[in-house]
Amino acid sequence: MSQTSFPGYVSPGRIEVITGPMFSGKSEELIRRLKRAEIAKRKVMCFKPDLDARYHRTAIASHSAQTLNAHTVANVGELRAVLFPLLDTFEVIGVDEAQFFDPSLVALSLELMHLGKRVILAGLDTTFAGEPFPPVPELMAVADEVVKLSAVCMQCGAPAVHTQRLGASQALVVVGAAGLYEARCRACFKPYLDEHASEQLEMQGLVIGR
Ligand SMILES: [Zn+2]
Repeated sequence: MSQTSFPGYVSPGRIEVITGPMFSGKSEELIRRLKRAEIAKRKVMCFKPDLDARYHRTAIASHSAQTLNAHTVANVGELRAVLFPLLDTFEVIGVDEAQFFDPSLVALSLELMHLGKRVILAGLDTTFAGEPFPPVPELMAVADEVVKLSAVCMQCGAPAVHTQRLGASQALVVVGAAGLYEARCRACFKPYLDEHASEQLEMQGLVIGR
């Protein structure tokens, strides 16, 4: 008797992570995969955090205007509350802007995978400071497949792996403000040389100089 013929046995699903800087087409790739699953007659459910008010509040949208209906949820607990009563109905679960969810998204993704679901998550791998952006690095570690996309450097045209913050905000999460961020290559990325930070550096220099 093979393992898969045991009553109640569910063969594992898979976890796919789509990552990279802003403007690298992560949402577009997520939408592409979810639409392909729908064409294959799979039931798809998609989630996004409610702090993203860039476009439609109930759809995920890429910068290139592709959209797909999505449930807007405040956190992983709410995602779970919406998803689990309907879990038998859906085979593919999409999550956009995964970096804005708390670390329990990792355990939830593993749980869904063990229940046989295909989980596809898109999110930023690094912050504007160039540091790992939880929980995406952890999701990458437990994934079956990781796709790391690059954008195009807005300074020189080279492949870009970084998100450059242009404004003075120190907030980790600044959403949807066109013109506040641009993609940069490693050579052009200047995480600490924005207006606000450079003032701080100058002040520190004065103190040290005395
Ligand atoms: Zn560059």
